[in-house]
Amino acid sequence: MSSVIIISAPSGSGKSTLVNRLLATDGNLLFSISYTTRAPRGQEQNGQQYNFITREAFEDLIRRDQFLEWAEVFGNYYGTHRGILERGQAEGKDVVLDIDVQGARQLKERIPGAVSVFILPPSKAELLNRLRNRSEDSGETINKRLRGAVAEIGDYCRYDYVVVNEQLDTAFDQLRSIVQAERLKTGPGIRDRVERILETFKE
Ligand code: ADP
Ligand code: 5GP
Repeated sequence: MSSVIIISAPSGSGKSTLVNRLLATDGNLLFSISYTTRAPRGQEQNGQQYNFITREAFEDLIRRDQFLEWAEVFGNYYGTHRGILERGQAEGKDVVLDIDVQGARQLKERIPGAVSVFILPPSKAELLNRLRNRSEDSGETINKRLRGAVAEIGDYCRYDYVVVNEQLDTAFDQLRSIVQAERLKTGPGIRDRVERILETFKE
C-alpha cells in the first residue's frame, strides 16, 4: 500500500526545489502531475510540471468527477486526477502531491492516512527575495503571492509536519526523514514486509 505525502508551501518558499531533489534521490516516489488552467511559466513543459488545460476542459473534468481534489488558486484552477492513487499502487510507489492548503484539507478528509508537510520560508523578506530572484513573476503577481502567503501560513497547524526552508540541505534532510518515517509506520505501508518476515517463521 502506497503512502500519500502532501506538501504545501507559500509560493516561493522553495517547495519545488525540495520536491525535485526528493524525486531525484528517491526512486520509490511518484509525483502527482496536477491539471491547471494557468499558463506555463519559465521552462515548464506540458505533462512535466503540470498538465496545462483550458478552463473549459478543466470544468468538464470537474463535471465528470475526475478529480480527487481541486481548488482555485490565484485565479486559476488546479486539480489532482483520481488516477494517481491507482498508479502509485500499481507501481508500488509512494505518491507525492504538491497542492495548496484547500486541496490538502480536501485530501486529508478523503485519505486520513495521508501525511502532510507544510514548508515555510524563514521570513517575509527572504520569501520576497526568492520570488524576485526566481524572476518568473511580475511585481503584481509577487504582491499577490505575498498576500496569499500570510493566509496560508495561518493554516500551518492543520499539517502533520512543518519544515522551515532556511538552509536548503537541512530542510531537505528533514523532508527526507519525514518520508522515511512514514514508510516505517505501523500500517498498510509496512504490512507486506512484516508478513513476509512472518512467513519465514512458518514451517
Ligand atoms: P516554490 O516551488 O515554493 O514556489 P521554488 O522552488 O521555485 O519555490 O524556489 C523559489 C526560489 O528560491 C528559487 O529561485 C530557488 O532556487 C530558491 N530557493 C529555494 N530554496 C532556497 C533556500 N533554502 N535558500 C535560498 N534560496 C532558495
Ligand atoms: P504555481 O502556480 O506556483 O505552480 O502553484 C500555485 C499553487 O497551486 C501552489 O500552492 C501549488 O501547491 C498549488 N497546486 C498545484 N497543483 C495543485 C493541485 O492539483 N491542487 C491544488 N489544490 N493545488 C495545487
